[in-house]
Amino acid sequence: RIVYLNGDYLPEEEAKISVFDRGFVMGDAVYEVTSVLGGKVLEFEGHMARLERSMNELEMHCDLTRDEWLAIHRELIARNGIDEGLVYLQVSRGNAGDRDFHYPPEGTPPTVVLYTQAKPNLADDPKAKVGIKVISLPDLRWHRRDIKTVQLLYPSMAKMAAEKAGKNDAWFVEGGYVTEGSSNNVYIVKGNKIVTRHLSEDILHGITRASLLKYAAEAQMEIEERPFTIEEAQGADEAFFTSASAFVMPVVEIDGVTLGAGSPGPVAARLREIYLDESRKSAV
Ligand code: PMP
Repeated sequence: RIVYLNGDYLPEEEAKISVFDRGFVMGDAVYEVTSVLGGKVLEFEGHMARLERSMNELEMHCDLTRDEWLAIHRELIARNGIDEGLVYLQVSRGNAGDRDFHYPPEGTPPTVVLYTQAKPNLADDPKAKVGIKVISLPDLRWHRRDIKTVQLLYPSMAKMAAEKAGKNDAWFVEGGYVTEGSSNNVYIVKGNKIVTRHLSEDILHGITRASLLKYAAEAQMEIEERPFTIEEAQGADEAFFTSASAFVMPVVEIDGVTLGAGSPGPVAARLREIYLDESRKSAV
């Protein structure tokens, strides 16, 4: 695989980063994941806007323009022959020269890494046809979940706990209410109404979420942005989650309670179809 590192396209085994890199030592890095369908990047502008916002919130600087980011995405997709898959992008605060809590001096170049992951069945994911099962866990992450940092240890622990329990993923709960999934935004469906938590620093502002709510409104669905409990979700007609890499994924079981008939509901299935259609149309 050819990867991008600080201006160079390199075989992955030749791409090396300093042991003093802030991303490695302090988790001081932000990232984005975009999907590729038909060799094109989905939701490019949204992901770039969020990347810029994450960097601003952390006073991190990177000179690359959106055109340059796009050119790198396209070059990697071409060089690696990606038709369906993901592009991972990470910007860290760079090589600090030594271990130090303080940020390195202004002008220290960030470390920029991008690589592709081929996923031949991304759009046609068999899991979307059967739905997934989740467990709930307390949300023990930090309180700036709106910043997309690489501090993913707790989400990793949560996914391992879910796997150990024989389930697919975890939903986080704080103060009695669901915040989001371990790597996705979550929704419940009641009749023609979709309920999802409102935006705040408590959750990541999903790019897929923003588009999905727009498409749902255009399809005359009612949307309520408010917190909900696990109990309310267990009594809903349907549940699903969204993320750039899974699009719209039906959830059929929460903490051992089966939702509805135990198979993906019509609203999630329809939204997945609409989402895939629309995002393919706007891919670049
Ligand atoms: N919440 C969290 C915690 C995530 O990690 C992700 C995946 N990036 C999302 C939500 C979904 O965001 P997006 O739709 O932009 O992928």
